Amino acid sequence: MSMNNGNGKLNRQVLVLNQNYAPLQICNVKHAIIMLYLNRVEMVESDGVMIHTVDDSFPLPTVVRVKRYIKYRDYEIVLSRKNIMRRDEFECQYCGKHDSQLTIDHVQPKRYGGKDTWENLVTACVRCNNVKGDRTPEQAEMPFRKKPKKPHYVQFLKQQIDEPIQSWKPYIFLG
Ligand SMILES: [Zn+2]
Repeated sequence: MSMNNGNGKLNRQVLVLNQNYAPLQICNVKHAIIMLYLNRVEMVESDGVMIHTVDDSFPLPTVVRVKRYIKYRDYEIVLSRKNIMRRDEFECQYCGKHDSQLTIDHVQPKRYGGKDTWENLVTACVRCNNVKGDRTPEQAEMPFRKKPKKPHYVQFLKQQIDEPIQSWKPYIFLG
């Protein structure tokens, strides 16, 4: 399948619902179209904008739904550098700065047995990370802005939304 991507339409966000209509993830239009093509998802909502392929044209999806139910444990959020920063909204958890150079800080330093967990890893700017050094926040007198914890997937999903899409509203609370 080849598609002509005239104007970035294919990078728009699509809400993916579980088989029971619970929000599952966000993907881009291109990925959603491939999933539709492979018959893994069905179209739930569209904004009416048409997309043209070599031998077909169809409306661009804004919401799709998987055909087979996905169990909760299969969509646990992976503990990764990028996902920790997303959880922390790309903000230093000590000073609140949106620095261009963010690092990941071990709350309990590794040398004191600090683990790689959602609770023990936070986003920190280079300066705060250096100031804190190999100390705990208590020792360094650097309290968190918010206590680090494992993100809930719906919360996490919301943080990835570029701009709210009207047709998503029945499926996810956008506030
Ligand atoms: Zn900082």
